[in-house]
Amino acid sequence: MAMHERRITCPHCWELIDVLIDPTESQMYTEDCFVCCRPILIHAKIDGEHIDVDVAQEDLGF
Ligand SMILES: [Zn+2]
Repeated sequence: MAMHERRITCPHCWELIDVLIDPTESQMYTEDCFVCCRPILIHAKIDGEHIDVDVAQEDLGF
């Protein structure tokens, strides 16, 4: 299955960035913001066709 592109808001600098979500399973991972280079904790919850994405500052968590 193709990766799903999702636009999120960086919790550090509030810029919009695009991340790729694997739609086959729920996942939590860290990705550096392309704009401010700080780590973003990304939690993607996969529920059938529905993909719900939460983001948080890595040092704060959810
Ligand atoms: Zn940022």
